[in-house]
Amino acid sequence: MNKSKINHWCVICGKGYHACNTCNEARGVDLWQKFTDTSNHYRIYQIVRDYHNHIISLKKAHTLIMKCDLDGWEDFRPNVAKTISEILEYEKTKKENRKNVVTLQGM
Ligand SMILES: [Zn+2]
Repeated sequence: MNKSKINHWCVICGKGYHACNTCNEARGVDLWQKFTDTSNHYRIYQIVRDYHNHIISLKKAHTLIMKCDLDGWEDFRPNVAKTISEILEYEKTKKENRKNVVTLQGM
């Protein structure tokens, strides 16, 4: 049996990997292997999904995503990369808002 047979594709980066659903379900652990190639990508997946479903706010998503390893995110699956760039935009929005506040206070 070829153990390295690719039977899954990461929902985040699209990379192929091998994971045994039966083993994972039997053990009840490492559920992330069903969706992603690394636990880090699974964390990103949860943030992107929750943000997308309006379960967490943009602010929360930004805080959480900054704790993840976003290495090579621009090469992630297009819809994932799009959402991540949207979340990362939060920094800019925050700065712009701060500028507005300063302007208002100055009035
Ligand atoms: Zn991945």
